[in-house]
Order: sequence, then C-alpha cells, then structure tokens
Amino acid sequence: MKIGFIGLGIMGSRMAANLAKAGYTLFVYNRTNSKAESLAFDNVITKNSPGLVAGESDVVITMLSTPDAVQEVALAEEGLVSGMSKGKVWMDCSTVNPSFSKQMAELSESVGFNFLDAPVAGSLVPAEKGELVFLVGGKKGVVKYCDPLFKIMGKKYIHVGENGMGSALKLVNNLIMGISMYGFVEGLLLGESLGINKEKIFDILDGSPIAPSMIQMKREKIESNDYSPEFPLQWLQKDLHLAAETAYENNLPLPATNTIKEIFALAKKAGMGEKDFTAIYPFLSELNKSTHELQ
Ligand code: NAP
Repeated sequence: MKIGFIGLGIMGSRMAANLAKAGYTLFVYNRTNSKAESLAFDNVITKNSPGLVAGESDVVITMLSTPDAVQEVALAEEGLVSGMSKGKVWMDCSTVNPSFSKQMAELSESVGFNFLDAPVAGSLVPAEKGELVFLVGGKKGVVKYCDPLFKIMGKKYIHVGENGMGSALKLVNNLIMGISMYGFVEGLLLGESLGINKEKIFDILDGSPIAPSMIQMKREKIESNDYSPEFPLQWLQKDLHLAAETAYENNLPLPATNTIKEIFALAKKAGMGEKDFTAIYPFLSELNKSTHELQ
C-alpha cells in the first residue's frame, strides 16, 4: 500500500514519520516546503502538489489546520481530488465539523473514491509515540482496509459510525477539553488571589476526581512557564467555534461553549494563538493585572 501524506505540522510530521519508520513508501506535500524536506527518510518522496501526492498513493492522509485548509487542498487546481481515482481512500485526520466531513464524503463518492473522517485524540507526544486514538466515520470495509495504518499511528481506533460521526465525537471531546481547561485556570487564579500558591493547588487537585486528568500532563507547562505549542490555542478556539457552529446547525444552545470560545478568541487576538492552549492561564492572569476602571 502506498501512502500520501499532506500537512506536516506538529501532528502530521510525527504521524508521517511513524508510517515511514514502519517501512511504507510515503509521498508527501506541505504548503511550506521546508517541513516536507525535513522529513528525512529514504522512503519519503516530496511532491509539489496535493494532486501529485494523490496520483501516486492508494491512501491519502490529510492533517490540516481548518476546514478551509482542507477544502483548498482538496479542490484547488492541482488539489488532492485531481489525483484520486476509483478505489483509492482519502483519510482526513484534521479536526473539522461533521457537516463539512459529510460534504467531503459526498464529493469523494461523486468522483468514485472512498472517504474517512478520522480525527485524533492525543497531542504532540502521543503522535510521536504512535499512541493516538482515532475517531473514525465511514464505511466499515474502508475502515478495515486502513486498520494497519491506524495501528501504526495510534494505540486505538473507534469506528463511531457513518461519515461525519468521527468528526462529531472529536468536537464533543474538544468542547469538554476547552471548558475543563478554562474552568481549571479560573480556579487556579481564584486560589492564587486568595494567597494559595500554584504548587499547592496542583498538589491537591492533581489526581483528584475534581480536576481533569489532562492537568497532570499540562502541569509542567504552566509551572515552568513554557507555552511552546503542543496543541496551539488557535486550534482549540477553532474547535470551540466548530462545536458552536454545529450546535447552531442543530438548533442546540451551547451557552458555555460560546462564551469560553470568545475568551480563547481574545487570547488569540492578544497574540497567544500559536502558543499552547495552556497559555490561557498567563493571558487571564495578565488581564486581571491590567484591568482597571475606565474613567
Ligand atoms: P499545525 O502544526 O499548525 O499544522 C497545520 C498544517 O496545515 C500545516 O501543515 C500547514 O501548512 C497546513 N495548512 C494550513 N493551512 C493550509 C492551506 N490553506 N493550504 C495548505 N496547507 C495548509 O497544526 P497541528 O497542531 O498539526 O494540527 C493539525 C490538525 O490536527 C488541526 O485540525 C488540529 O485541530 C488537529 N489536532 C491537533 C492536535 C495537537 O495537539 N496539535 C491534537 C489533535 C488534533 P504550513 O506548514 O505551510 O503552515
């Protein structure tokens, strides 16, 4: 099986590296070419367009930032779709909204190839270790065909249902993650303002049923003031936006999601977008310090 990989950012570069290490021949494309060039394996071949990658591959994996990026990569003149043909598979691992995944599935079916939405739970370290969890939407036979790839890049995959259902579960996951992180940070700030130091708050809440277990993983970043990106804040804000949009499409009010999404939007506007999403802590902390009464 020949694999195409498009989108070699924080996640894609590590997922592609694991496929290369497993011995697959990989055809890759990244908009910023230097990232493709730095994937230095003998069995990795860089191509100049998504269409050329698709033309060479049996399964094309995309790991891109937003639905707009996926659409551009798919539909541009030398886009992915131009290189696809009957029997091939497009596996989109980007976090997008379910209605968008369904559109891409319909497009794929109209051209005659197969589509899976297969976003992932897990961040930079699980991507590196091949321990992601794939949330998959699509036809059972196509999921089965891709089983070896899921097993190399991940520790588990869940076939959630038809196309769009993988993306649906991913947004459920990230909505909870965003609200949990935000809640934890507000608690931390209240504790600190009352004179309890950060370390003590972490010690007490770490491993307790009250704090999300993600806090264990993120503690070091917050304590050492290291906000280098594992999961960029701008993509969490995007996911909250996609969850809100999906709720709107389904006439479902999500008051907390919409509010917290806007707080992450403020942090992004303040220049925190490319930092890890834990940077919501210094953002709020600074905001509290700088807030004073308007005259
Ligand atoms: P990233 O490092 O910012 O990488 C984004 C990738 O998308 C890059 O390869 C970028 O190309 C490409 N891209 C963006 N716009 C494009 C366009 N218009 N045309 C072509 N390529 C474009 O992001 P990431 O953290 O790897 O995340 C990728 C996806 O996985 C996102 O949907 C994110 O929500 C999801 N995700 C991330 C994590 C995480 O912890 N990081 C975890 C789970 C899921 P350039 O290099 O040229 O910019």
